[in-house]
Amino acid sequence: MSEIPYKIYLAENEIPSKWYNVRADMKNKPAPLVNPGTGEAMKAEDLFPVFCEELCRQELDNETPYIDIPQEIQDFYKMYRPSPLVRAYCLEKFLDTPAHIYYKFEGNNTSGSHKLNSAIAQAYYAKKQGLKGVTTETGAGQWGTALSMACAYFGLDLQVFMVKVSYEQKPFRREVMRTYGAKVTPSPSMDTNIGRAINEQFPGTTGSLGCAISEAVEAATSQEGYRYVLGSVLNQVLLHQSVIGLETKAALDKVGVKADMIIGCAGGGSNLGGLISPFVGQMLRGEADYEIIAVEPASCPSLTRGSYVYDFCDTGKVCPLAKMYTLGSGYIPAPNHAGGLRYHGMSPIISQLYDDKLITARSVKQTDVFEAAETFARVEGILPAPESSHAIRVAIDEALKCKETGEEKNIVFGLTGTGYFDLVAYQQYNDGTMEDYVPTDEEIAKSLAQCPKI
Ligand SMILES: *Cc1c(COP(=O)(O)O)cnc(C)c1O
Repeated sequence: MSEIPYKIYLAENEIPSKWYNVRADMKNKPAPLVNPGTGEAMKAEDLFPVFCEELCRQELDNETPYIDIPQEIQDFYKMYRPSPLVRAYCLEKFLDTPAHIYYKFEGNNTSGSHKLNSAIAQAYYAKKQGLKGVTTETGAGQWGTALSMACAYFGLDLQVFMVKVSYEQKPFRREVMRTYGAKVTPSPSMDTNIGRAINEQFPGTTGSLGCAISEAVEAATSQEGYRYVLGSVLNQVLLHQSVIGLETKAALDKVGVKADMIIGCAGGGSNLGGLISPFVGQMLRGEADYEIIAVEPASCPSLTRGSYVYDFCDTGKVCPLAKMYTLGSGYIPAPNHAGGLRYHGMSPIISQLYDDKLITARSVKQTDVFEAAETFARVEGILPAPESSHAIRVAIDEALKCKETGEEKNIVFGLTGTGYFDLVAYQQYNDGTMEDYVPTDEEIAKSLAQCPKI
C-alpha cells in the first residue's frame, strides 16, 4: 500500500488566510447582474439596499485575485476546519479499480454541509456594518441552519423564510434553526406583500424557493437595519467557498499528488465553484490541466439542457437579472425529485466557465444517485447527503472506466455534506418507491420561453 494516509490533514496554521477570486484570472468575465427595469449593469450602490456593502464590493470585484479573510472569520473556521481530504481506499478496493479516489468532506459541522463557509463570512460583514439582522430563504434547511449558527455567533437577528412544504414535512432542521435563535416562517406567508399576493393567487400552495427568495428580499428592504443574504449562486459565495479548493490543493501538494479529474455536484454552483477555483486558476494561467465535471440531477438539468441567457433569480422578480445557464425561473422539478439541487439557474461564474469549455457537465438520475450513496455509505462509513451523492455517482462511474482501461487516474470529488436529515428520501429508495423523472424538451422550452428578452 502507498504511503498516502487515509486522511490528509492540514495543520491549523495552513488554513487559508485569503480567499481566491477566480474571476481575476478569467479572460471572459461572468456577465454582470442587470437591473430588470433598465437593462443596465448593477453598480455597487444599486445593490447596497439589498446586500451588505462589503459583500456588494466582493460581488462586483472581477480583478482582485486574493482577498484577505478577516481574523474573526479565520478564528471561526478553526472550530471546524481544516476539513479532511480522505483517500477512499475502501471504495477503491470495493470497486477493484486502479484509480486513486480522494474526497474533500465538508460535513463535519452541525449544519452538516459546506454552507457554513459562506454563512459565517456573510454574518461577519453584516455585523461589521452595524446591522441588526439579516433575512434569507431556505428550502430543505441546510442554508438556514448554517446561517443560524453564524448569526448566533455574531449576535445578529435572523429571519428565515422556509419553503412551506419543507417547514411542515421536515421539522428537524427547522428546530435546529430555532435552537440557534432564528425566527422561521413558512413561505408563502402573510407577513409580506408578495407572500399575501401569492397565497391569494394560488390558495393552498406549498411554496417554492423562488417565492421564498422574493419574501426574504422584501422583508430585508422593508425593515430598518436588515439586509438579505443568499447561500449560493452569487460570486461572493463562490469566493468564500474557495476555502474548500485551496485546502484541497494544499493537501494534495503536501503528499505530492496531482489531480487528473475533479468532480462536484452543482445546484447553484457554490461548492463546485469553491472546490475548482484554484485548479481552474491554474488552467487559466496555463500552468496545469484538469478534467472538471459538474454533476446535476436529470430532473433539474440547467447546464446540460438549459440556455445561457439573462433570467430572473426569483419568482417575484424582485432580484436583479443574472446571465446563467437556466431552465427558466418558473421551472419546478417534478414533485418526486428527492435529491436536492433544484434551483432553476446556475452560478454566473460556473456558467461562463462551462460556456468557455473549461469544465464539462453531466446529469444523473436519482435512483442511480442513491445506489451510489448506498455503496459509499457501506464502504466508506459516511452517510452522504443526496446532493453530494451526485458527485459520488460520477466518481464511481469514472473509477469503473479506469478499471477497463487500467488507468491510475487521480479522481478528486467534493463530499459536501451528510444525509441525516434526508432519511425520507433514503426511505423511498429503500422501499423501492423512488422514481426517476426526466423533463421533456417541450417542458423545458415552455419554461425557457418565459425568460426576459435582454
Ligand atoms: C446546498 C447544498 C448543495 C448544493 O449547493 P451548491 O451551491 O450547488 O453547492 C450541495 N450539497 C449540500 C450538502 C448542500 O447542502
